[in-house]
Amino acid sequence: MKAMTKCLRLASLFVLFLGTQACTTIPGTNKHAFLVTSPEEEAKMGNSAYREILNKEKESTNLRDKKILLRVGNRIAQVAEARHQLGFKWEFKLIESKQPNAFCLPGGKVAVYTEILKIMQNEAALAMVLGHEVAHATLRHGGQRIAQNMAVSGLVGGAALAGGFIKDRQVRQVAISALGAGATIGLILPFSRSNESEADAFGLEYAAEAGYDPREALNFWKRMSESGGNKPPEFLSTHPADASRIQNLEALLKEVEPLYLNSPKYGLGEKL
Ligand SMILES: [Zn+2]
Repeated sequence: MKAMTKCLRLASLFVLFLGTQACTTIPGTNKHAFLVTSPEEEAKMGNSAYREILNKEKESTNLRDKKILLRVGNRIAQVAEARHQLGFKWEFKLIESKQPNAFCLPGGKVAVYTEILKIMQNEAALAMVLGHEVAHATLRHGGQRIAQNMAVSGLVGGAALAGGFIKDRQVRQVAISALGAGATIGLILPFSRSNESEADAFGLEYAAEAGYDPREALNFWKRMSESGGNKPPEFLSTHPADASRIQNLEALLKEVEPLYLNSPKYGLGEKL
């Protein structure tokens, strides 16, 4: 109900300008969101941001890790597709980088950075992170943030984003960041706390249903919060592993247990 009220409040800001915008139901959920872009426009923006990032980054040559990423990614994608009927054109790239990071852009464009594999240590933790990042895309959190940014800044951003084609460099950077790949371009816009909890909940369900032991989520967040010594990784600034996240995850673990029990049960999978 709270989400619906917020949605209507944001939508009302737009009625004056556009008249036709409404709250959209997210397929496969009972959630409503205020959106001004279509899934196709978001996917187009996601794809162009993805190409831009891949052009700048170096793809890993580690065939074993790439194979594992593809395997886990496809399992998560299958669960997400069955639940939300997305029709995404999924891609999974392993990027060689000292920065522990991972993201999924609208349309199913996923990147995992080699450094975060060291903290994951196994396939199950990779499945949790992929599940979380994929959930941001399936629940259209990037699209929601674009709509919020536009509602706050008026229609200037809207005109610049129309049709999923962004010419202005600054607007493009804000869009990339709004879609969820901020850390890669040094412009960090964390998702809201409620979007983060939602991504945790759905992500954990995807991972458990795909066959990965959900209990590893807690171990992963513990390792993540301990990594980097007195210089914590950027991933933590957008995904704080604090007491409230850990508490929420503990409560969620009980809920996802039946999903894991009915899954193919890969346990922790292979070591990374
Ligand atoms: Zn997140």
